[in-house]
Amino acid sequence: MTSTAQAVETFPSLDPATDEVVGTHPVHSAEDVAAAVGRARRAAAWWGGLGFAGRAERLRRWKGILARRMPELCDLVKAETGKPTGDAQLEIVLAIEHIEWAARNARKVLGSARRSPGLLLANQAATVEYQPLGVVGVIGPWNYPVFTPLGSIGYALAAGNAVVFKPSEYTPGVGAWLAGTFAEAVPEHPVLQVVTGFGDTGAALTRADVDKIAFTGSAATGKKIMAAAAERLTPVVIEAGGKDPLLVDADADLDAAADAAVWGAFSNAGQTCVGVERVYAHAAVYDDFVAKVTERARGVRAGEHYGPMTMRSQLDVVRRHLTDALARGGRALVGGADSVGDRYAGPTVLVDVPEDSAAVREETFGPTVTITRVADMDEAVAKANDSAYGLGSTVFSRRRGMELARRLRTGMTAVNAPLSFAGIATLPFGGVGDSGFGRIHGPEGLREFARSKAIARQRFAMPLALTTFARSEKTDRIVSRLIATLHGRHSR
Ligand code: NAD
Repeated sequence: MTSTAQAVETFPSLDPATDEVVGTHPVHSAEDVAAAVGRARRAAAWWGGLGFAGRAERLRRWKGILARRMPELCDLVKAETGKPTGDAQLEIVLAIEHIEWAARNARKVLGSARRSPGLLLANQAATVEYQPLGVVGVIGPWNYPVFTPLGSIGYALAAGNAVVFKPSEYTPGVGAWLAGTFAEAVPEHPVLQVVTGFGDTGAALTRADVDKIAFTGSAATGKKIMAAAAERLTPVVIEAGGKDPLLVDADADLDAAADAAVWGAFSNAGQTCVGVERVYAHAAVYDDFVAKVTERARGVRAGEHYGPMTMRSQLDVVRRHLTDALARGGRALVGGADSVGDRYAGPTVLVDVPEDSAAVREETFGPTVTITRVADMDEAVAKANDSAYGLGSTVFSRRRGMELARRLRTGMTAVNAPLSFAGIATLPFGGVGDSGFGRIHGPEGLREFARSKAIARQRFAMPLALTTFARSEKTDRIVSRLIATLHGRHSR
């Protein structure tokens, strides 16, 4: 935020591996947030007026800074989240790809387009265009502090909005870095600002004079945000948590499926919204698959392949889920409740866990996975869909990949590879149920941050004047006959 901020209270961001202070940031008050939104409103007028080409050029400048200074950003992501440098780099690379796609395609997706006026109004020229909303408030999580918020920020900016971003209290430094580098690329106006603090700062942003809130975080917070946003009828996009299933069919490539399960469950210490939390494996391949997952999981080490839990309190959730699962007949083939330490949690593979236990129903957000035997893929689909969540999913099947993917009640499905949809800039990203609604990424992600503007322009006066008190009975008769001819032929 700029120097006019009045915030005096501060909070530290800590390295979760060491508790060292990474940086100190202001706790921005409701007044600070309102002031930032006011500045954003003025900046939005300028940014919107630049047009698609002007914005694309400036977004590319920013993208260039992100690409050139990636090692610096990787260090900061690693320091605030604890994730390995390679993983930090991967999320930055994907975010850069999204910025480029949004910048390149905004005009095509949002620009003025002709529509058919239809026969009755053939004298009209019908046009639709997507105009910026104005100011978008973005509230982000800590688990992918670059990739996740930029999925909203990049698309909102490309659509012509100014953005006020409230990063997670665990990753404020990353948020400040992103806004700082954007200001280097676009020094004229504060088009992207950051406000830092805890839930109260996010709540203030939700209640501020913003035109939309794009929230990514837990379903519980998403519900609070939607309730608060309702006071002003502010629209929201909610990207919440998941309990993502992976399905293994009888004809699946079991090595690839096991690899995907292990990566999807344990990478980033399982702190991935679209990470694999549950596996349903066909009885014909269950034993082989479990053996392959077990073997691979034994080679995965906390502190080497993934970092500490970013949010210490999540360790209690992971421990609770494991303890409950084991008490109710589950077996840990790798790890177990003891593998949950003070900072790190080792990988755990659970089998025989009842479907109604917390480890199957609630988001664990830790390096654990349950594997369940199913008689056939109908049972796999039914069990996968029996969840309050519906974010991502994965299917491994040689013959039925597309069919099974379509039947899964989730916003995205990857077939025969893990999490692939997240990196494809053309595909919309978002969930159903407790995973939220609305979409980021792709054309849908651009339209999420724009309002459609419909214009009907009369080209010539019609002989049949319909919208006038001077309309004659003859006109009504002609219209009646016309409609009977056009639409009356279908008996059912
Ligand atoms: P969280 O809900 O605790 O916090 C998210 C953000 O909301 C933070 O910036 C926080 O300060 C803010 N916040 C908290 N209370 C608020 C309030 N009352 N009003 C406004 N803002 C408030 O979530 P988290 O622990 O940071 O993130 C983890 C969660 O995010 C997991 O559930 C994960 O699955 C989910 N997630 C979802 C996606 C997705 O795209 N669907 C991506 C990444 C993470």
